[in-house]
Amino acid sequence: MARADGKKRLALSYVFGGGSLQEQTRLPWHTLDQSSALTRLESTANGLSSKEAAARAERHGPNSLGETAGTSLLGIFLAQFKDFMIGVLLVAALISGFIGEAKDTIVIIVIVVLNAVVGFVQEYRSEKAMEALRNLSAPQATVWRDNEVAVIDATGLVPGDIVKIEAGEIVPADMRLLNTAGLQVDESTLTGESMPTLKTSDPLAPEKLPLGDRLNLVYSSTIITAGHGRGVVTATGINSELGRIAELVEAGEPRTPLQKRLAGFGRTLALGVLAVSALVFAAGVARGEDPALMLLTAISLAVAAIPEALPAVVTISLALGAQQLAKSEALIRRLPAVETLGSVTFICSDKTGTLTKNEMTATEVFIGDRLFKLEPASGSSFLLATADGRKLAPSSPEFELFWAGLRGCNNAIVKEGGEGELSAVGEPTEVALALAAKQAKASAPGVRVAELPFNSERKRMTTVHERPAGFVSFTKGAFDVLFSKVASVWTGASAVSLTEAERRRVEEIAEAMAADGLRVLALTGRFWDEKPEMSETALENQMILLGLVGLMDPARPEAVEAVELSRAAGITPVMITGDHPATARRIAQDLGIATEEDVVVTGADIEDLDGDRLQALVMEARVYARVAPEHKIKIVQALQNNGELVAMTGDGVNDAPALKAADIGVAMGITGTDVAKEASDLVLLDDNFATIVRAIAGGRRIYDNIRRFIKYTLTSNTAEILVMLLAPFMGLPLPLLPIHILWINLVTDGLPGLALATEGPESRLMARGPRNPAESIFARGLWQHMIWVGILMAGVSLFSQAWWLENGGAWQTVVFTVLALSQMGHALAVRSETDSLFRQGLFTNKFLVGAVTLTLALQIGIIYLPILQGLFHTEALTPQELGAVLLLSTLVFLAVEGEKLIKRRNYRV
Ligand code: ATP
Repeated sequence: MARADGKKRLALSYVFGGGSLQEQTRLPWHTLDQSSALTRLESTANGLSSKEAAARAERHGPNSLGETAGTSLLGIFLAQFKDFMIGVLLVAALISGFIGEAKDTIVIIVIVVLNAVVGFVQEYRSEKAMEALRNLSAPQATVWRDNEVAVIDATGLVPGDIVKIEAGEIVPADMRLLNTAGLQVDESTLTGESMPTLKTSDPLAPEKLPLGDRLNLVYSSTIITAGHGRGVVTATGINSELGRIAELVEAGEPRTPLQKRLAGFGRTLALGVLAVSALVFAAGVARGEDPALMLLTAISLAVAAIPEALPAVVTISLALGAQQLAKSEALIRRLPAVETLGSVTFICSDKTGTLTKNEMTATEVFIGDRLFKLEPASGSSFLLATADGRKLAPSSPEFELFWAGLRGCNNAIVKEGGEGELSAVGEPTEVALALAAKQAKASAPGVRVAELPFNSERKRMTTVHERPAGFVSFTKGAFDVLFSKVASVWTGASAVSLTEAERRRVEEIAEAMAADGLRVLALTGRFWDEKPEMSETALENQMILLGLVGLMDPARPEAVEAVELSRAAGITPVMITGDHPATARRIAQDLGIATEEDVVVTGADIEDLDGDRLQALVMEARVYARVAPEHKIKIVQALQNNGELVAMTGDGVNDAPALKAADIGVAMGITGTDVAKEASDLVLLDDNFATIVRAIAGGRRIYDNIRRFIKYTLTSNTAEILVMLLAPFMGLPLPLLPIHILWINLVTDGLPGLALATEGPESRLMARGPRNPAESIFARGLWQHMIWVGILMAGVSLFSQAWWLENGGAWQTVVFTVLALSQMGHALAVRSETDSLFRQGLFTNKFLVGAVTLTLALQIGIIYLPILQGLFHTEALTPQELGAVLLLSTLVFLAVEGEKLIKRRNYRV
């Protein structure tokens, strides 16, 4: 640590030319002008070279707080021996080695080491999985390197880097701003001030300005709420303002509710096991067994029956499960979310891009007083087709102003490829309109001189263009928002007032388009002699209707399937959109989210309703239209007040509160802002609704696997304890030696347990309802299973012991083998809660088949190989004996298959 500090000190003095760390990082950057700041940081407006950046990274370290120093391999291995009971066992084994057989001690130590190896493998895999997840969700920064713009992991930023920032992002490091455009930053994490601050790039005085007033600086981890800008990095990692106030917390995942509950349960169980072990010791000694042997036996039993691997296995299952989900495009940002996923009852999803492809195309236009369909013609052009089959070229002069307006009132950039094929970059709505205008060979709209930009609240935008004779303004936006501000209609040559009847006709046409699932935009214009005043009131009133456009955004085919799947799984899918109610309803119907009878609730309705009425309405509503982000949080809360568990999607800065409030906040990986991702539990790397449903199925499967592991391990432990506890009371000699107990624990807790944690999905996984989040992991028959199967396993083992004792033979080898193999049978049978092994197919979990075969082979080796016989105190069984043992060992398997048969009958599957 001391060395690392020294390194940083050195690095800083290099940059600032000497002085203590304290003085230098507190340099009053806000008083310097842009070029002095760049000079002090030895940077330029075009950023650093990669070579220089790499050198600085070497000196400053990564731009992160509380680095995880990655636990060392040896550290993980040694940690396996930290367990108190293992220590006691090793000490007891050593003592007994001195007084008794050294051979036994060696075998015990070997088994304990093997156990540690299994534990090590488990923990190492989970560590790796967690690391991979952390890397996947690392924040990014847009930076100039080698005179080019590059997107890098924010941890790679160094002082002197030039970084571009924009609304929705989280500031990645402390920076002196070089230029700003309406840049507003929420600095509440640092200053407590909840109103966003408007930033500037001009130098400020005096030197001793409070942090919140240094308007030309931005600080790491604050949130950009509007605008964009560029700055030069002044401090990274622990040298940033945040680093100074942040406690260097031990990086590490918070424990999930299940992990916490299991840790508590584990402690109680450990005390119980210790008490039983003490009883076994006392009963054995009372029966006249050797006290030293009984002590070792009792300690071995305690080691075997305390499920010390439980929390680790839960972490592994969650972490590996999360890693697998990331491969199928669902990135889990918080581990507890994996558990919660299985309990989700409502998915509230945005429409555009999540349920639909977000690939808009213009399919209908209404110009003047005529409705046309756009029919693709040769190459990249189209014809306007009327209902009676006539076709017109879009370039006729009467349509000229309409297409010019669509071209002008647009920020998408159209590109023409070598072969004449067209493409465009920009926002999908704009791309569709720009492409249509281009294909229609739109004439130039004039030089654009001003713009009133689009945003989701306004639902429209206006541009002003200078023409040879005066100015023209074009406004495009949601039909229902614009049409009330329209006074007349363009005929192709002049504007004429709209009569009431004509107004109604236009409205009917727009409604019919929306009912077909089209997004309907209106385009309006206005002529000006002088450059008009840039205000909504001046520009967006008394407008002339130029025409309407209907845009088609097809539903994602996989979303239809996912909607059906989620319904079958007892989850209600709900669509939320900024679009028109009729458009929303039609698309929701196409997707199977809503029927014709379902009401469409609008943002305005949500505002009008009081808490109770909204709480009732959200249980019925399947489609919300014309909704703004602030309505989403009301929907989430109303659903939660009904006891529902809600997954809610979002992408913008304003969606963050709803994402935080939701039980599972889901952010878009492609179109989502940093802020939305930061507020979320799950990131959809492909922005696809189907991925949410896949993640829910994954969450359910992971939880099932944890239950499976617990069911298997604790049943085995119950059986081991019962065998050892009941034998003396039944007048039987000590059934198992310490090494037998430890061996059974190793092979059962080890490989089959791990294999069960990788089991595939149950056949009824998405045919059953969501799990009640308050439900204990032992619910739905798990603890009853542990007890009755534990009793059965112990019963079969003790019966074998008694029978062989009575009739002569290698009774101890028999108990040992019956117990070990019964557990293998159990492992095969608990693979599913309800399906029989034969229906599942033996080889569908190859890992488990491998584990069982290996255990079987080892057990045979222990019985028949002379060297192992010596170590394990076993004797060779006759073929008849071996046959009988195998038959007895299948009893547990058959009984558990019987239990599943009864369950299946009850489910009627
Ligand atoms: P969803 O909520 O389904 O994801 P969305 O986020 O695309 O939809 P917004 O972008 O908020 O919805 O758009 C709301 C409305 O504003 C649209 O229905 C459309 O009528 C209009 N609109 C969208 N983009 C533009 C634009 N670039 N210019 C003018 N109007 C637009």
